Amino acid sequence: MKGLAKDLNHLMGEAAVFTQPEDLFAYQSDATHYFATGAPVAVVLPEETDQAARLVEYAHSHDIPLTPRGAGSGLSGGCTPVNGGIVVDMKRMNRILDVNRGNMTARVEAGVVLANFHRAMEKQGLFYPPDPQSMTVCTLGGNIATRAGGPRAVKYGTTGQYVLGVTAVLADGEVIHAGGQCVKQSVGYDLTHLFTGSEGTLGVITAANLRILPLPASHRTAVVVCETLDQAAVMVSEIIAAGIVPAMLEFLTQMAVGVMNSMIRPPLNAQGQACLLMDFDGSPRQVEEDTAKLADMARNLGAMETRIITDEKEAATYWKARSSLYPLILTMAKKVIAEDVTVPRNRIPDFVRAVQEISGRMGILIGIGGHAGDGNMHPSILFGEVSPEMEEKARQAIVEIVKKGLELGGTISGEHGIGLHKAEFLEWEIGPAQLKIMKRVKKALDPKGIMNPGKLWPPAG
Ligand SMILES: Cc1cc2nc3c(=O)[nH]c(=O)nc-3n(C[C@H](O)[C@H](O)[C@H](O)COP(=O)(O)OP(=O)(O)OC[C@H]3O[C@@H](n4cnc5c(N)ncnc54)[C@H](O)[C@@H]3O)c2cc1C
Repeated sequence: MKGLAKDLNHLMGEAAVFTQPEDLFAYQSDATHYFATGAPVAVVLPEETDQAARLVEYAHSHDIPLTPRGAGSGLSGGCTPVNGGIVVDMKRMNRILDVNRGNMTARVEAGVVLANFHRAMEKQGLFYPPDPQSMTVCTLGGNIATRAGGPRAVKYGTTGQYVLGVTAVLADGEVIHAGGQCVKQSVGYDLTHLFTGSEGTLGVITAANLRILPLPASHRTAVVVCETLDQAAVMVSEIIAAGIVPAMLEFLTQMAVGVMNSMIRPPLNAQGQACLLMDFDGSPRQVEEDTAKLADMARNLGAMETRIITDEKEAATYWKARSSLYPLILTMAKKVIAEDVTVPRNRIPDFVRAVQEISGRMGILIGIGGHAGDGNMHPSILFGEVSPEMEEKARQAIVEIVKKGLELGGTISGEHGIGLHKAEFLEWEIGPAQLKIMKRVKKALDPKGIMNPGKLWPPAG
């Protein structure tokens, strides 16, 4: 250990290395806290790609596991150092290196916090749509490594669709610049998107080229209060089928509305079993037309109330409350397991009914809320108490929810990634042949298995 600290200090400079237990403590967990592993033996905070490359080369030659980490806001145990080793904390690589308005691209370092990037773009009339609700802390590198999404995915897609190129340090310390700045590229295997979603298992992403858009001229928030969950689920399918695609379409259960109302002024109508919270963007005329069509449709489908919010400040309270939903729920329950199963949008009613049935049969509280516009429903298991019985019931419920999602043609993770949480289920979705390919890719890029070991699939045996 002393030798390692000395080597790292020499290699990286003392200011870039943490080895004291009180500094290492925070790195054993992600935002869930229930995937806490042991602490790493050291944390290193590179400031340049070359510095990161030196570190990786050193770890490679000494067979030391490396776990890349952005903000640690993940919800699947992705950034926890299962085998100890060194955590590579990317937060000091936080510069926006270039904004190319002519090409509508930006080059960023991996540690840039998403909300800072949003603000920097908006100041210039530009727009980077991906919006995971952890945006005030999560990093662009973490977003790329998990293919993160958010409410705007329904109209604009997720992080992967905005990544044109990545700079990555491979497991032996070599640096590659995959992709580039072009909107299109046809040059063999798409290594850029191999790293997008790789969850730190193939290398350390240090920088990326991102696609940006012009900032929409106008937007408007709307809320539809639905009498039943079924009605809300049907309404989601109808809205999408009618082609009035909102920029955001969130599904909130009565419980979620009750929680969010502590932040919303005036509070939402909490009489319905569900609310749909939406935002429409585009030209002022388009937004006007879309919200009018929505109001008609909601009336025809029997909604209890439709609110079109014209006051910007009021609308902001709705979205602030939505992004705070998970932290707010954490204050109500002893433990919350946030699920991430995603289904085709027309299967949302079946999925919601199945989750309700599981919840009722097992006698456990499962909140449902999510980015309904893209089928990402986030059932959350709420623990009134933490006990072995409750852990077992929760595990059983997760297994059933995952199986139901797959049966409905869905996926085990829409945006949080596999990490530790879904490792045992990966093969259920992709099958043995694809799993074998993934393992071969891993072996080819990281033959010693030092990059974020223990993630994506269970260890052999
Ligand atoms: C309140 C709350 C709301 C959330 N809402 C959403 C949401 O709406 N949508 C969504 O998708 N997620 C959401 N999340 C989950 C999480 O914020 C995202 O997964 C986010 O992308 C993680 O970013 P991070 O920088 O914190 O990465 P971390 O949690 O630090 O790491 C996540 C994974 O990426 C890898 N990684 C991180 N940086 C790099 C890098 N530079 N190179 C290689 N690998 C790297 C890590 O090894 C790990 O496997 C939410 C979390 C919270 C707490």
